Amino acid sequence: MSLCYDEEIQCSVCGNKHSFLVYASFSSFGPPDLDQRPFEMDKKVLKNMLQKCPFCGYVAYDISEPCPVDSRFIHSIAYRTCEWRFFLSSAARRYYKQYLIARKITNDAEAYDAVLHAAWACDDSHDKRNARYCRQLAIIQIDKLIQEDNPKETVEELLLIKADLLRRSGRFSEVVRDYRRIRFSNEKMNDIRIYEIKMARRKNSKCYTVDDAIEYRKQEARRNKKELHKKNVQLWLEHCGHFLQ
Ligand SMILES: [Zn+2]
Repeated sequence: MSLCYDEEIQCSVCGNKHSFLVYASFSSFGPPDLDQRPFEMDKKVLKNMLQKCPFCGYVAYDISEPCPVDSRFIHSIAYRTCEWRFFLSSAARRYYKQYLIARKITNDAEAYDAVLHAAWACDDSHDKRNARYCRQLAIIQIDKLIQEDNPKETVEELLLIKADLLRRSGRFSEVVRDYRRIRFSNEKMNDIRIYEIKMARRKNSKCYTVDDAIEYRKQEARRNKKELHKKNVQLWLEHCGHFLQ
C-alpha cells in the first residue's frame, strides 16, 4: 500500500511550477524479485516516483532540489531523446534520463539504481529490447560497484543480483561459468545462486521472486531425500536377498 498526495513543486532548472503526485510512503508486503524489485511496485508507483518538469523536461526524485548538472545538459538532444532510444513506456524514459544525469556526474550507485528501474519499467510495458539493453547497462554499473571498497556482505549481495541481471538478459553461459564455483557466506544466498544456475542451464530468462528460489530448493531437497530413502531400501532388500540365498 502507498500513501501519496498532490503538491505544487517549482522546477530548479526553469523555475516553472507544476503539481505532482508525491509518495509519502511505499509499503511492500511480499517477496522481492531476484533482482530486488520490491513486491507491489507497479507501473503507477514506478512512474510517479520520479518527477518530470513538463516545461523543460528535467527529471529527478524532487525537481525543486538543485540540479547536479549544467542546465545545457538538460536541454541537450541526447538527454531529451534518451540518447535517441525509443522506449515504449514514459516511466522507462524518466529513469533513463535519471541514469544519464547520474552517469554524467559519475555517481555509479545512482546510475545503477536508475537504469535497473528503467529495465523494470520496460518489463511492465513488454519492451523486451530496451529491458535487455538497460540490464546490460546495469551490469556495467554493478561491476563498478563490486570493484569498489564495499563490505563483504554488500559485494555478495551485488554478485547475486548480477547473476539475475545476466540471466534476465539472456547471458546464460556466463551465469553457469561464473557462479558454479562461487560460495556465499549465507545459505539462503547459495540456494538462490544454485537456482539461478539451474534456470540459466534451461535458458530461462523469466522473472522470479526470492520465495520461488527458496521453495524450489526445498522441494529439491525433499526429492533428494525420497530418492536416497528409495535407494537405501533397495540396497537393504538386495542385502536380505543375498543373506537368504
Ligand atoms: Zn523545468
